[in-house]
Amino acid sequence: MENDELADKKQLIVNKIDNGIVIDHITPAGTAFLVLQALKIDNHYPHSVFVAINVSSKRLGRKDVLKIRNIKESDLNLEMLGLLIAGSNLVVIEDYKIIRKVRLETPEFTRGLFQCPGHSCITKLHEDVEPEFKVIKSNGTNESVKLRCIYCDKIFDVFQTLTMVS
Ligand SMILES: [Zn+2]
Repeated sequence: MENDELADKKQLIVNKIDNGIVIDHITPAGTAFLVLQALKIDNHYPHSVFVAINVSSKRLGRKDVLKIRNIKESDLNLEMLGLLIAGSNLVVIEDYKIIRKVRLETPEFTRGLFQCPGHSCITKLHEDVEPEFKVIKSNGTNESVKLRCIYCDKIFDVFQTLTMVS
């Protein structure tokens, strides 16, 4: 662990990017993989993606950092990111300069991002009823974010039980 921290300080400074976004202070460590999945970024993405997992952080202990070249803020679903990594900082980079910094926040409600897994839910029976969930936060940690279906009242874990609408 100590060696890790020393290494982080000395040499783990990832290249600056020219254009794109940086998402910093992603916790818990390892969540960056889920973020990439939610952003639908995989090996077919045509630009460089830098992923730092389990980096030591003075404030957070351990965190992840993502740098994605040539992606625009408008390409991102901030609601989805807020559900997944509230508290993380989204930094927009243009020509090596920070032009905007946004702290991601958990939304109160979310609509259209997920399908309700409840078997007898009205959203399953009627396609024109769009699934909508109340976001339940506890302890302010991202790990404990759950969604309650406003139609059938069932409670589900974000990203564990829910299927994303593609
Ligand atoms: Zn439901």
